[in-house]
Amino acid sequence: MKILSTLHNHCTMCDGRSSPEEMISAAAAAGFTDFGMSCHGYAPFDPAYSIPGEEEYLTAMAGLRNACSGRLRLYTGIEEDLFAPSAMPERYDYRIGDVHYARDRSTGEFVPVDGSVEDLLHVIRSLFHGNAMDMVRDYYANMVTASEKRPLVLGHFDLITKYNERGRFFDEDSDEYRDLALQALEACLASGAVFEINSGAAAKGLRSVPYPAPFLLRRLRELGGSVTLSADCHYAPYLTAGLDLGVQSARDAGFDEILQFIDGRFVPFSLCD
Ligand SMILES: [Zn+2]
Ligand SMILES: [Zn+2]
Repeated sequence: MKILSTLHNHCTMCDGRSSPEEMISAAAAAGFTDFGMSCHGYAPFDPAYSIPGEEEYLTAMAGLRNACSGRLRLYTGIEEDLFAPSAMPERYDYRIGDVHYARDRSTGEFVPVDGSVEDLLHVIRSLFHGNAMDMVRDYYANMVTASEKRPLVLGHFDLITKYNERGRFFDEDSDEYRDLALQALEACLASGAVFEINSGAAAKGLRSVPYPAPFLLRRLRELGGSVTLSADCHYAPYLTAGLDLGVQSARDAGFDEILQFIDGRFVPFSLCD
C-alpha cells in the first residue's frame, strides 16, 4: 500500500522543529498527494507548545496553500486539546481531538501527561495523591469528552501510557486499566471519529508500539472502527518515520484497510496491496 497522505504533522508555528515549507517539501519528496498540517491549537497556559494565535496560523496556512498548489493538496488542520479549544473550529479543514494535560482542580493548573517522566510523576503525586489509576481514570474521561466535540480524528488514544513502558507507574495488563481504556474506546467510537495509529513516539524509541496498544486496536476492529496512519511528525526528515510500524499494527489487529485523506475526504486503502 502506497502512503499518499498523513494529517497529523507539526512545524515551527507550534512546537515542531521544521518550517512549514520544509515539511511540505518533505511531503512532496515522499510522494504524498495530500498533506495536512495540524499545529497545536493556541493554549494560553502553554504558549511555547502551541500556535501564537489562530488568525495568524490560518493566514500563514492560506498563503502556503497557494504557494504549493500543483505540488500537493495542503490542508489546514488543528490538533485541538480538550483544554485548548479553538474559537473558530469551522475555519479548519479538520480537527484532531485529544488530551495532553491533567487539570489540577485546586489550582486550575494544567500539567502535561506526555511532556516528561518528571511531569507525569508530578501529575500522579500532586494532582492524584499518588494514585496513578485515578490519573488514568481522569485521562480517559477527558478523552471521551474530547471525542464528544466531534473531531474528524481522535489523536493518540492512550497517550497516558507514553512514559509507562514496562508498567513503571500502572499495570497496563490489569483488568482495572484495560476496563477503563476499553470503556473509553467504546464511548469515543460513538462520536464517529476515525482513530489514528500514531507511531510518533514508537519511531523515536519512546514506546515499543504505536498508539493505541494492540488490545485496543483489536477491540476497535471488532467494533467496526476505522483507522488512519499518523507519524505525529515534528521534524521533516522523520515525516514518514514509523508509518511502517503503523501498517504492521493495523494488520496485526486484523484490519484489512486503513483510511487516507485524499482530495478532502477519507478513502479506504487495502492493506493487502
Ligand atoms: Zn499530541
Ligand atoms: Zn501532535
